[in-house]
Order: sequence, then structure tokens, then C-alpha cells
Amino acid sequence: MLCEAASQLAIKVVILDPMENCPASNLCHYHMVGSYDDSATVEEFAKRCGVLTVEIEHVDAATLEKLEQQGVDCQPKASTIRIIQDKYLQKVHFSRHAIPLTKFVQIEDLESAKKAGEIFGYPLMIKSKRLAYDGRGNAVAKTEDEISQAVNALGGYARGLYVEKWAPFVKELSVIVARGRDNTVLCYPVVETIHRENICHIVKSPADVSWKTMKLATDVAYKAVSSLEGAGVFAVELFLTSDGQVLLNEVAPRPHNSGHQTIECCFTSQYEQHLRAVVGLPLGDPSMKTPASIMYNILGEDEGEQGFVIANKLIGRALNIPGATVHWYDKPEMRKQRKMGHVTLVGPSMGIVEARLKSMLGEEIEDDQ
Ligand code: ADP
Ligand code: MG
Repeated sequence: MLCEAASQLAIKVVILDPMENCPASNLCHYHMVGSYDDSATVEEFAKRCGVLTVEIEHVDAATLEKLEQQGVDCQPKASTIRIIQDKYLQKVHFSRHAIPLTKFVQIEDLESAKKAGEIFGYPLMIKSKRLAYDGRGNAVAKTEDEISQAVNALGGYARGLYVEKWAPFVKELSVIVARGRDNTVLCYPVVETIHRENICHIVKSPADVSWKTMKLATDVAYKAVSSLEGAGVFAVELFLTSDGQVLLNEVAPRPHNSGHQTIECCFTSQYEQHLRAVVGLPLGDPSMKTPASIMYNILGEDEGEQGFVIANKLIGRALNIPGATVHWYDKPEMRKQRKMGHVTLVGPSMGIVEARLKSMLGEEIEDDQ
């Protein structure tokens, strides 16, 4: 999607990705096949770029720091990637900047985990510090007896774990924040994200919350991004609690799933905005050009062929719905719970868009039976 936006602005994108037939390989100017976690490869890749940016934070941050010292232009800055890629370090960073968060503490063994459970209560959210995405890296212990099982599911204490106090949220919100090279900061409208088994499933834009909450969420997001260095778009994931507090969950230093709908519903998509920001063009208008939108992630329902059959049915219905745009990523393998594509629905009101989502999911047909 970044490559699609780049082609409109005639910005040439060179990508580094280990997968030969990765989705962007057909859309980019040049695809270097290699690991973004390998120092020599990243250095070699940097030679081809005017500006180096990321679409995933699990890259070799030490090499980016070294390259920056040699004058390579990294946006956002390597320091930002280093902080964000370690979720525990990220929490320490934001708590030092007085951003509201749930309580957290690192754990090294069963004893420290039990102690955290006594203080925070249950359910207890156990998270791996690094290489976490789409819920892979989180495990919940409902009671003290479940700690060991949850820790094992994450690969054991040696992987580097920490725990968070359970956030009793009523809604999850997200704000995409863009910062240009001239330090202009623009925030997208606050959206609501709905997760299924820890994976983002639906994004509603705008979020159905009070103006006060919109302002508070935007303020927290703005403050969080202001504590990080470099240009680009950032996604700030937030929890809204029943007493109206907004707590920061995590930040992504890149275009994000909670901003996919901006392609169809905002004047400037998060992808175009990211490109404008990192290359030093003026930022575009982040406001909505349609009254309402819903983004629906097509998650793999089943492995292999059967998964494709299910996804195809959904896409077939989506193609017949007004205001629906299908994005199929053409990932080479179908896996359960894998993000295979998404559909954005737009319309004149949230009620109408919700009805369109229902019909895309075939729910009225079920109602009729
Ligand atoms: P990921 O990197 O996979 O997005 P997150 O840390 O954002 O991981 O967690 C994924 C989801 O798990 C969140 O969007 C939220 O639904 C739930 N979650 C995460 N942390 C907590 C918490 N402390 N309390 C309750 N739910 C949580
Ligand atoms: Mg998250």
C-alpha cells in the first residue's frame, strides 16, 4: 500500500524483504531479497536509498544507529525504532514522559511473576518484550495456576517477558499521528478498533465517543509521539476505561492497521502521509472525506485451499456492495488468523456502513433463514 501511494507521487521505493514473492515485490522499483535483521544486508540496502524508513519495527536498530552516524537519513530515527521494538522499554520510556499507562513490571521467573500477580490481580496480561505482533506475544493468566502455562506459550522466561495489569477497557481507540521533517504534527480522527483474539479485526472511523474523549485521546497520542524522534506516521493504540480515562497501550512507528481505511475515507491516506513526511514534502489533510467508514480485516479462517474458498465468498459479496473497496494482499500462503487482506466500507452514516458490513458478512441471509 505504501508502494501504491508512492507510484502516484512518482517516488521510487526500494524494499528489503526476505520473501522472494512478497506482496510488495510486484509494486516496488526494486526488491532486495534479504533480512532486515542482518547488519551487512541492511548496510548494503541503505546504499540504494535516499531515505531509509520502516514498515515493521523488528529491524536491526543497532545498524540503523551506526548508519545514522555515517550520515544515512533514517526516518523515523533509529532511537525511535530501538525504543518501540522492545515493548518493555517502550513502556518505561512513556512512563518517564508521564503518559498514562497500565502498571507493568518485568518478570524473570515464577516467583517474580507470582509477585506481580499479587500486586496487579488477575487476569494478568503476560507479554514478550520483543518480536510481538498481532497478538502473537501476549498470553493471559486468569489465575496464579495459569502463569506457567502462559509463560511456556510465550517461549519461557528466557525470551524476555514482562507483565501488565489488566486494562478494563470499554473501547480500544487509535490515533494516527503524522510528523513532517519540519516538525509539523497532524492527527487523524480518533478511530475505534475491535480485536478478535488479540488481533485487530474491525476499525470504525470516526469512533463513537464524546468530544471530550476525542480530545483526550488526541492529546495523549500527540504527547506520546512528541516524545519520539523523526518523521513519519505513528499509530497510537489506546484503551478507554469506564471512568473516561485514556491509557496508552502501544505505539507503532509506521503505517498501521488502524489506518488502512484512510486510503478511502481521508483526504490523505496514512501511506501517502508517511511518504510525504519521510521525504520532506508538506503533510496532507488528514480529515475524513466520507462521513463514516469501517475497515474489516480478512483473517485466514482455515489453512490452505479451504481458507481461500471462505475468503473468496466474502470478497464476492464485497464486490457487490456500494462503497466497498477490496484489498487482497496476495500473500503466498493462507494461514489461520493471518491478515490476508481487508475491505474498507464507506457511506453517508455509520448506520448505513454497519448495514453494509452485515450484508458483506452474509448476516442478513442467516437472519432470513
Ligand atoms: P500486538 O503487538 O499484538 O498488537 P498488544 O500489546 O497491542 O499486542 O495487544 C493486543 C491486544 O490485546 C490489544 O489490542 C488488547 O485488545 C489486548 N490487550 C493488550 N494489553 C492488554 C491489557 N493490559 N489489558 C487488557 N487487554 C490487553
Ligand atoms: Mg497492538
